[in-house]
Amino acid sequence: MNHQRDIPQPITPKALAERVRTAAADSNLVFLLDYDGTLTPIVDRPGDANLAEDTRQVLRDLSARHPVAIISGRDRPDVQNRVDLDTLYYAGSHGFDIAGPDDHAMDHIEGADFIPEVRQTIAFLEKRLAALSGVFVERKTYSVAIHTRLAADGDIPAVEQAIAETLAQHPRLRTKTGKRVIELIPDIDWHKGRAATWLIEGLQPAHGPIFPVFLGDDQTDEDVFAALPEHGLGILVARAPRPSKASFRLTSPGDVVDFLKRMAAASR
Ligand SMILES: [Mg+2]
Repeated sequence: MNHQRDIPQPITPKALAERVRTAAADSNLVFLLDYDGTLTPIVDRPGDANLAEDTRQVLRDLSARHPVAIISGRDRPDVQNRVDLDTLYYAGSHGFDIAGPDDHAMDHIEGADFIPEVRQTIAFLEKRLAALSGVFVERKTYSVAIHTRLAADGDIPAVEQAIAETLAQHPRLRTKTGKRVIELIPDIDWHKGRAATWLIEGLQPAHGPIFPVFLGDDQTDEDVFAALPEHGLGILVARAPRPSKASFRLTSPGDVVDFLKRMAAASR
């Protein structure tokens, strides 16, 4: 639909549910969902972002009617454990690691040869940033994330310096910037948007024609908004208006759950 980098207009969960139902009338809905900041509120430490039981129930109900995939920057086992539903598809590590709910027909791994190099950078950065108390180095399989949400502003230049040194030593990696988090990830042409396309194409034979709906809140989600087909809808989750390739904006994870509840209840 709207692929310009405009300011997506705000919409209520009820109006969005009606719109999606109308737009997808002749096709099958597939829900692609970011995790942090979309299904759960953003927290200071990523380990604290747990899924509310009410939200889990909504996802369970939704997945009984439509394919549902979680596309997250978290490692796939991490996000899978947090959601804890075996009826969903999971694309973890920004889409590098994908697993379907059954028979491994929808499993995909990208960039596995980067894993040893990522381990080296984790060891280097943990040592290098150990003295900065508000900086948290998150170990992931395909990337290392440096969280600065709790960091003093004065510590940021030291973080940037450490990242520049790491990149100089590991030119096969690149940075990916999110909400007070900088990640070093393999510099290959694969991201959440490619994972979304891969999932949509994989689901097409059994579920097509597909109308994908993607909800996400962060910079990395713009890759998905950009990758969505014309026949699909991207929803930005953000308190304040901002430029995005999404078509509409819901203001909070609470509104996301409200919208998904309506879609799970819709008789189709
Ligand atoms: Mg997010």
